[in-house]
Amino acid sequence: MTETFDLVIRNARVVGEDRDVAGGLAVREGRIAAFFEGGTAPEATETIDAAGRVLMPGLVDGHVHFSEPGRGHWEGFETGSRAAAAGGITTFVEMPLNAHPPTIHAEALRLKQAEAAKSIVDYALWGGLVDDNLADLEDLQAGGVAGFKAFMCTASDFPRVDARLMRAGMTTIAGFGSFLAVHAEDEVMTGRLAAALRAAGRRDRAAWGESRPIAAELSAIDEAIGLAEETGARLHIVHVSSAAGIDRISAAKARGVAVTAETCPHYLFFDETDLERLGPVAKCAPPLRAPSEREALWDRVLAGAVDVIASDHSPCLWSEKAAGEDDIFAAWGGISGLQSTLPVLLTEGPRRGLSLPDIVRMTASNPARLFGLHPRKGSLAIGSDADLVLVDPEASFTLREDDLFYRNRHSAYCGSAFRGRVDLTISRGTAVYRDGDILPHRGARLDGAGLGRVRQPLGETA
Ligand SMILES: [Zn+2]
Repeated sequence: MTETFDLVIRNARVVGEDRDVAGGLAVREGRIAAFFEGGTAPEATETIDAAGRVLMPGLVDGHVHFSEPGRGHWEGFETGSRAAAAGGITTFVEMPLNAHPPTIHAEALRLKQAEAAKSIVDYALWGGLVDDNLADLEDLQAGGVAGFKAFMCTASDFPRVDARLMRAGMTTIAGFGSFLAVHAEDEVMTGRLAAALRAAGRRDRAAWGESRPIAAELSAIDEAIGLAEETGARLHIVHVSSAAGIDRISAAKARGVAVTAETCPHYLFFDETDLERLGPVAKCAPPLRAPSEREALWDRVLAGAVDVIASDHSPCLWSEKAAGEDDIFAAWGGISGLQSTLPVLLTEGPRRGLSLPDIVRMTASNPARLFGLHPRKGSLAIGSDADLVLVDPEASFTLREDDLFYRNRHSAYCGSAFRGRVDLTISRGTAVYRDGDILPHRGARLDGAGLGRVRQPLGETA
């Protein structure tokens, strides 16, 4: 039998979480069908010469906000998925808040799924746990959500959960075999500090960071871990901004708690002096930390203590950023970063000793595991979906607003210089982004319903 491949990518540096070899791979019917080493390559309908560039699994971004239905003027699945493709992201998991309605009941999920069908790359959807939807969780699970998200502090129009509700929600969610992700900042501490700062007339940029100290993050992480320990539910702490936060999670893992840690590129690239310099466009929660704290977080990344790196792409209108020019509390909090994850890690990682397989592990393989999508996603293995990204790690560029595919072309990253550019993104064997152009494609929805199985701790490869 003669084998015909649809696509061969040759002359590449092929990098997976435990692979870094010169050679290439072949694709048939949207899946990885063969690997080869060195300069030889089999025949195929289409052959791409990678010219020595790096070929990696497409990223699985577990934390994006596309704001549809209801706030498509902030982002939307069409623009958001295009930006994902331009950033080398071939699977995203979209958060249940910032849309109207938030994804907290079956009808809202149905509306979300209808909007999400516009995506050009594959995707899954989060469900929300809020203060009054315990009775809706089962419908959301049956509807295919890939996990549940809750806020421990106040978020605009996404009611926070207290410990009692979190305990009840975690117990229910654990029963599905699913997991809970939390935004961990202490409600009482942040609320009191913000009120005191405002009462003292503070509106300046530094006041934002002072209102949300690391202590507030640690207090909430401790509470969430305690509840996970008590209920046996699997817990994921999103956007951890501090080394001490990662350390609390590592300590809990060591005593057997099923908890995972996520951080974001902005905590590894920026620090509080950038909020001072850039203003509201760099406002996020938790806030950017001190330069020494950023380096301590890098130490945890290099030590393997961070499971997942996700963008937390959280867009808005420019006017909602500009509103905070004279009052940082009035600005929308969130950084548009979907296209910057790989450039940040390729720029800042190698000079600190981060390897390319480590980048793959945290941005593709581990997030795929978190959502039960591995090894179909986030993996270079025979039979895995041919979701691939070709990057030139040596290419230097300065990010410009014109480079952005976001509906609102602003980002804290604009004006920054990067080394490491996405040249080609492939979804299930089909190019969706090439050298600045988006190519038509239809993404598939990846439902999480019925997974229900115990997963290996992240970092331990099966
Ligand atoms: Zn978020």
